[in-house]
Amino acid sequence: MTRFEPRDQIRAMSGYHSPQVDVPVRLNTNESPFPPPTEWVTMLADIANTVSWNRYPDREATELRTVIAQRHGVSPDNVFVANGSNEVLQTILLTYGGHGRTVVTFEPTYQMYGQIARVTGANVVTGQRGDDFTLDSAEIDRIVQQHNPAVTFLCNPNNPTGVIESQKNLDTLLSLASGIVVVDEAYAEFADWSAISLVNEDLPLIVTRTFSKTLSLAALRVGYAIAPTWVIEQLNIAVLPYHLDAFKQAATVAALLFTSEMETRVSLIKTERSRIELALQGHGIRVWPSGANFVLFRPHGENVQGFWSQLLNHGVLVRDCSGWPRLEGCLRVTVGTPQENDMFLSAVEAIMASHR
Ligand SMILES: *Cc1c(COP(=O)(O)O)cnc(C)c1O
Repeated sequence: MTRFEPRDQIRAMSGYHSPQVDVPVRLNTNESPFPPPTEWVTMLADIANTVSWNRYPDREATELRTVIAQRHGVSPDNVFVANGSNEVLQTILLTYGGHGRTVVTFEPTYQMYGQIARVTGANVVTGQRGDDFTLDSAEIDRIVQQHNPAVTFLCNPNNPTGVIESQKNLDTLLSLASGIVVVDEAYAEFADWSAISLVNEDLPLIVTRTFSKTLSLAALRVGYAIAPTWVIEQLNIAVLPYHLDAFKQAATVAALLFTSEMETRVSLIKTERSRIELALQGHGIRVWPSGANFVLFRPHGENVQGFWSQLLNHGVLVRDCSGWPRLEGCLRVTVGTPQENDMFLSAVEAIMASHR
């Protein structure tokens, strides 16, 4: 059969996949290790019973936007919700990126920015972070002056490095007044500052959040943006009509009754994160200080793929980042439950011992 060729942008890409392997301890995709409250799961049956399944859902997701707005002390007109923050990012790029426009990322960072930007036709320019993966304001200045981006991404804390972005860098970007600036706060609850309080009508600033990480609802696929009203209006034009189904809207409203319960786990994760960082350093392994629920590390002098598959032999799956630009030799481990972290650390211990 002759195959019809896809667009150049699609053909040039191999896609974005996190291989899922069926192992006892899965620490590769930064989800919460804790399921959501059982009370919420029980409520879902009632919610399913109240949905008017023959009707289209509320296209504006009014109630959901209202409760999210309350959570952040903004107006519902400052809130855009979609199926995961990846769809939020895609909608931003459909609205402000696209053919003939430039999108800027500072590497290493979340791979989906470049991927979605290319799929939606934009030209992607990458600035570089330093060896410690912090970003120098001179680099921001250079890239923005040279390329005049339509959209620039910062990720705070940054995935996959865990490094917290400085507010000074965001201020620098905004003062250069070049296009839309997106701050992706997928891991904000684990870090010490948020850009949400900076959002106002006079700044081209969009902050994105997700239910997938702290809120233990990766399976539900919900994310949102907090932005000026004039941005939200345009995003609503670009997105598909009725993109949020009625069940999801109601289930998410119900989930927001339990946020404090889900957020109390944050302090446990942070304690476990320090334990992992210290233990890895104790083995002479380089780690980058993390403000998120994962730790990037580089097993020194090791064959990193070998290290990754030995972890797998011990039943522990982590993310192999070693093939990504700037991340030679690096693995990323998601902070799990204390038991899962124990299994990870004893696997590391065993691997290091076998090399001695
Ligand atoms: C996990 C993650 C997301 C979340 O995507 P969802 O589509 O909401 O699950 C967004 N940005 C970053 C940097 C992430 O790590």
